[in-house]
Amino acid sequence: MEAVVLEKVHELKIRDIDLPMEVGPHDVRIAVHTVGICGSDVHYYQHGAIGPFVVREPMVMGHEASGTVVEVGSAVHHLQVGDRVCMEPGIPDADSKAARLGMYNLDPAVRFWATPPVHGCLMPYVVHPATFTYKLPNSISFAEGAMVEPLAVGMHAAVKARIKPGDLAVVLGAGTIGMLTALAALAGGCSQVVITDVQQPKLDLAAKLGPITPVNVTKQNLVEVVHELTDGWGADIVFEASGNERSAASVFDALCPGGCVVFIGMPAAPVTLDIVAAQAKEAHIETIFRYAHVYPRALALMGSGKIDVKPLITDTFEFKDSIAAFDYAGHMRPESVKIQIVLPQTR
Ligand SMILES: [Zn+2]
Repeated sequence: MEAVVLEKVHELKIRDIDLPMEVGPHDVRIAVHTVGICGSDVHYYQHGAIGPFVVREPMVMGHEASGTVVEVGSAVHHLQVGDRVCMEPGIPDADSKAARLGMYNLDPAVRFWATPPVHGCLMPYVVHPATFTYKLPNSISFAEGAMVEPLAVGMHAAVKARIKPGDLAVVLGAGTIGMLTALAALAGGCSQVVITDVQQPKLDLAAKLGPITPVNVTKQNLVEVVHELTDGWGADIVFEASGNERSAASVFDALCPGGCVVFIGMPAAPVTLDIVAAQAKEAHIETIFRYAHVYPRALALMGSGKIDVKPLITDTFEFKDSIAAFDYAGHMRPESVKIQIVLPQTR
């Protein structure tokens, strides 16, 4: 089976790889349709590691995927051959303490696609636990189905923020995760979102997605904009979605007294936070690591039309052009948000 394999840092190949494809009683086999390229995929390609996760052996890329069920295990009842699905890439040990506490994303033994040493899904077929395979609503395309994974991150952040109807949220960073967090915050009850970035085309796109005020921080002052919108009070919630060190250090500036900060982006180096600035506002500080059981609600919001991710899918490549897609993702034009790869559907 041909797969997109990261041989080592800077070396990506489309080549044959032999992987176990046995369908256990609780598994399904899926013909993969669409796979999104994530910042983490690009990071492994360019740097060979993210924190403690180091690429030491060839690894199949990709973790944002949708496809069609082609075989179901004997104990699977909620899925059938032909079902259009998306797959949750992180599989915990169901018996782990973290799983039993309802935070399976924090299970130290979780196996997450395309996080070394676990293979990803950028190949024609995958075998996956049925429990972590979700049917797509009829109105949702495969391309949108492959967006559920990054949307789940934004949804998890919105849940952690404990949004109250009418809240104003700031989202720092208008990349894929920032934009999806903005959509999740609006769907979760925020009246409006202020989103920041340094790339004007991304901000222009964000402004079309809903009641979203773009702020180009190279030209505008975020605190001034937020104070203008809130009579000087500040934002109820600040989502840090850029991963930029300076941005992460500035999260309390635009926050209102008693407000909530959610750290989503992962800065490359430790960041110094002004504790007194947080104390002066009695800020609530939340963090997220991926998500836990968010897919059903993300799919419900997409299926009902409350969240539309289509405008964020800006570039689509064919499977045979996967290497070019990854090279492009590493140096993409500022208009690009989500890059996806579509696999051939006649096999
Ligand atoms: Zn991702």
